[in-house]
Amino acid sequence: MIYMDYNATTPVHPEVLEAFLPFYRESFGNPSSIHWAGRRVKAALEDAREKVARFLGCKPVEVIFTAGGTEADNMAIKGVASAERGKGDHIITTRVEHPAVLNTCLYLEKEGYSVTWLEVDSAGQPDLARLEACITDRTILISAMYANNETGTIFPVGEIGAIAARRRIPFHCDAVQAAGKVPIDFREMKVSLLAVSGHKLGAPQGIGALVVRQGIKAHPLIHGGAQERNRRAGTENVAGIVALGKACELAQASLGTESGRLAGLRDRLENGILAQLPDVRINGDGGKRLPNTTNISFAGVEADSLLANLDLAGIAVSSGAACASGVLRTSHVLAAMGVEPGLAKGSIRFSLGRENSAADVESLLALLPGIVERLRNADYEFRLEDKGLNNGRPGEKNKGSRRHERRGGFFGDRRSS
Ligand code: PLP
Repeated sequence: MIYMDYNATTPVHPEVLEAFLPFYRESFGNPSSIHWAGRRVKAALEDAREKVARFLGCKPVEVIFTAGGTEADNMAIKGVASAERGKGDHIITTRVEHPAVLNTCLYLEKEGYSVTWLEVDSAGQPDLARLEACITDRTILISAMYANNETGTIFPVGEIGAIAARRRIPFHCDAVQAAGKVPIDFREMKVSLLAVSGHKLGAPQGIGALVVRQGIKAHPLIHGGAQERNRRAGTENVAGIVALGKACELAQASLGTESGRLAGLRDRLENGILAQLPDVRINGDGGKRLPNTTNISFAGVEADSLLANLDLAGIAVSSGAACASGVLRTSHVLAAMGVEPGLAKGSIRFSLGRENSAADVESLLALLPGIVERLRNADYEFRLEDKGLNNGRPGEKNKGSRRHERRGGFFGDRRSS
């Protein structure tokens, strides 16, 4: 079994598991209790907060633990929108955000806020001059991701932060995919709020954090007890928090070497595919990308068929297309980058991580081209039958026609970068 879907979720790191399991066993307690059991877990919780803060370059007091990235994004956007309602009602975000941001902004739009959806170019990058031009005296928040979950494209968050700081507008950065893959420095980025999620960096699912710069106004999303300094009510997920702290500590220690190793594997994977298959395009490779992610379009193939065939061979990857009610919907990210729908339908995301080796990449490279060729041929036979061209004989005529069709290439100009 080969797992190449680390952007979806990561296996829990063994040292993280070791760190948090005692909190499901003997080290129990409610951090709000003042007796020994409570004090014990409270100390562990604050220790984890310090580790997360050290990893992200913020103060421990600025870290609010949440139930994951989605909650952190919701809290940032709805929290600031609500706190700044008296000042304005305009939010700027981009078309390629994760649904945790997109749908939160859509919700606020329905609630009467006005949202500017910034376009991106073919490399997946926003136009910063356009961003600045969109700012009005009603703008209360800019929300832009650090790295795209589908393509790995890295936004110029430092420059976005500088614009936001100059115009005195809070900037929320969804850093869920960036954390653990590229260095993050909360202060240097001039970001006001920053979301991370445990299960993308070796901690379990259901834990995350929102960093809120001191002085930034954001109303809580969840009301109740006084936990997290009245900013996030509810008894803390102590085991999850301990796990996130440990995962951040480990990521900080390994980031330098691991990102180089993963970039090497990713490059080998891309070059191996480009060398073996025509009519392949790498999406978003024109700019800065995460070291572990590649999003590849295979012309003439439906991603779900490719994904299913790889799955049968024990290889787990992900497709940007989602099948809803029998209709294949293409990725909003690729659409925003101008990837034509036919090509976007054949796009696969490979996201590598800690347990992937060079041997995994070679196994993939030994299998993938054959599968793609088979699917392309099957699709070609199907299309011929559909047009009544093969007279029920999948023989000579098909081969000739196929060569003819392929000579022009699926792209016409063989755009394989
Ligand atoms: N933001 C980005 C960029 C993501 O990739 C994800 C998850 O895939 C999220 C937010 C949501 O995080 P979670 O799964 O912890 O809710």
